[in-house]
Amino acid sequence: MFEKLALIGIGLIGSSIARATRLKGLAKTIAISTRRQETLDEARALGLGDIYTMDPVEAVRHADLVILCIPVQSYGAVMEKIGPYLEPGAILSDVGSVKEYVTKAMAPHIPKGVHLIPGHPIAGTEHSGPAAGFPELFINRWCVLTPRGDVDPGAVSKLSAFWSALGSNVELMEPAHHDMVLAITSHIPHLVAYNIVGTVADLEQDTQSEVIKFSASGFRDFTRIAASDPVMWRDVFLTNRDAVLEMLGRFLEDLSKLQRMVRVGDGPGMESLFTRTRKIRRSIITAGQETAAADFGRPHGEARTISGPSGTAVLDGAAAPIVEVNVEPQQPVREHGGGDDA
Ligand code: NAP
Repeated sequence: MFEKLALIGIGLIGSSIARATRLKGLAKTIAISTRRQETLDEARALGLGDIYTMDPVEAVRHADLVILCIPVQSYGAVMEKIGPYLEPGAILSDVGSVKEYVTKAMAPHIPKGVHLIPGHPIAGTEHSGPAAGFPELFINRWCVLTPRGDVDPGAVSKLSAFWSALGSNVELMEPAHHDMVLAITSHIPHLVAYNIVGTVADLEQDTQSEVIKFSASGFRDFTRIAASDPVMWRDVFLTNRDAVLEMLGRFLEDLSKLQRMVRVGDGPGMESLFTRTRKIRRSIITAGQETAAADFGRPHGEARTISGPSGTAVLDGAAAPIVEVNVEPQQPVREHGGGDDA
């Protein structure tokens, strides 16, 4: 499908794209570029590509598909470097979790004849780095593409076919609409999780250990989301501020209504709300976006291990209670950025 795929950034998302592309035979050559030598060595050891370089310019030379898989606030500096070397006819895309900001960051650096088609695979885990990726990550997940109206439809079809071949369902959207939808489905839930777990972190030591001990009762799932990478999520809230504040306003109004129901003992009100929310959960399962099992549909019973410079950790799977992975480790499991966009 493509002659040369250049992946700028090879963490969870970049390495999952590399693995799935290789498995499906979607590019003759995969070039990998990253910021740190340590990450490049890890990608090489995992055999994720054909060309490994610290120089993004070398990676994008003669590439007909370039995908940025780096934190969104680093786009400007990277685009300044690679912009002049993008091949006419090439598709430039990305996987960033916000779309209006990245479109503005990329557009000024696009030479004539290069097709800019930003993208966002709505798939992820709370783990980061090249070893965290897996080729099935995008199967049955949405990938939203946000091309401007004047982009060559042939290039949009080609990129859509690429993501379909990785297993995704592709949807085209306006960047601002994407940011509003993701604000409520992903960004606010992360904000709430960061806040709940932050509240626990501020509790007295005794209460805190009880919370961890009895965490299976709901708190545990928040800790998984709140274990998402601080850099990635800082960038999301810095670059999608308006949509997040708009949705947060609505959320707080609804929270006040719920607070009142609790205060005045409005049982029927609560029951009616909780019945509606239960229906939403069921429709998500029916839509194939989740399994009925706990743990947000992560693989069960089959532990995956990752190894890296900081050692080896068992991730996902019944054998590894999530709270153990998510509590601040004595030695960091990973030093990469990243986060959970699932
Ligand atoms: P990751 O596992 O932490 O990998 C990040 C990659 O970006 C690494 O190759 C890292 O290089 C590189 N990088 C970090 N800071 C950089 C900088 N300042 N300049 C240049 N390169 C830099 O992250 P990820 O989870 O794959 O996320 C990458 C992108 O995917 C983000 O834009 C995120 O919004 C988006 N996304 C994430 C998820 C998710 O659930 N994680 C889902 C959908 C989309 P070194 O290791 O060499 O420093």
